Amino acid sequence: MAKIGFDVCWRTCVGTGNNHVLMMMRGTPSATGLLQVRFWGIRGSTAASGPRFVEFGGHTPCVEIRCGERLFVVDAGTGIAALGHALGKAAPKEIDILLSHLHLDHVGGLPFFKPVVLDKERVIRTYCGHLDGETAKEALDRLFSPPLFPVRLEQLPARLEHQGFKAGETLTFADGASVRTHPLNHPGGATGYRFDHAGRSICYISDIEHSDPWPDPALAAFVHGADLVIYDGMFSEAEYSHCVGWGHSTWEKGVELARAADVKNLAIFHLYPGHDDEYLRATEKELQAVMPSAFLAREGQSVAFAPVDAKTAAASEKSVAAAS
Ligand SMILES: [Zn+2]
Ligand SMILES: [Zn+2]
Repeated sequence: MAKIGFDVCWRTCVGTGNNHVLMMMRGTPSATGLLQVRFWGIRGSTAASGPRFVEFGGHTPCVEIRCGERLFVVDAGTGIAALGHALGKAAPKEIDILLSHLHLDHVGGLPFFKPVVLDKERVIRTYCGHLDGETAKEALDRLFSPPLFPVRLEQLPARLEHQGFKAGETLTFADGASVRTHPLNHPGGATGYRFDHAGRSICYISDIEHSDPWPDPALAAFVHGADLVIYDGMFSEAEYSHCVGWGHSTWEKGVELARAADVKNLAIFHLYPGHDDEYLRATEKELQAVMPSAFLAREGQSVAFAPVDAKTAAASEKSVAAAS
């Protein structure tokens, strides 16, 4: 099978009946109107590095979501530094970072995000949904202060603003954008996000440990009909008995969720840092044997969905609302 880390590859997903086209590419997609994701960090717990970790990459979670031109950053793991370099001068004046939670692998890159470091005109907002409405400010201030870290976030040039909410609420933004959220089963809690744009939808479901019974009906309703679910598949079912209670799931449980919720494509994410390219390629073969439209997320990989026509978009949003 061709590697997914290719230059440009088109996959038409059968059975959707509505011009459903999934593009995967390297490089920055530029078409407006698309709903796009780009993976900047895909590892869970800690970064991985070395010649055995080249194909899938080593940075901890950071994902760029584009609803048309509108940027959302999900999580601020070490991958966010590379995103900052790539954005360069094109970075928006205001940047929204939606945090799944505050474990180190999801926030450790924040002070190395160039737009935070370089530009005093810039406003960076963090959103945090698992602290019962509290913001991330206190935890981040504690983390990024001496002797743990040499500078405080408030000493960096950009203006940081922190917003708290309760996972399950819908976030609405000044420009009219909105993002749905959902609480996830993880030690200390975590927040899942759903991005809907032009009749397409991408869900970010990490970090999560599956429950019994599975799939959880509320989560299945939340991701129902999504074009892509990014799912914490850190382990396999064979490994899971050693990792119960760690707050992570398996790729097999991701497939079960996708099937139950009529999800069209599945990206396995939060990859275990000890799993090298050879292991992950073999895992992906097993995954695609049971769900051909599923794949393991790779650093630098982009996935884009073309908008559907307004009529189809309205129908699809209606059916998602009914399922929620
Ligand atoms: Zn994590
Ligand atoms: Zn975590």
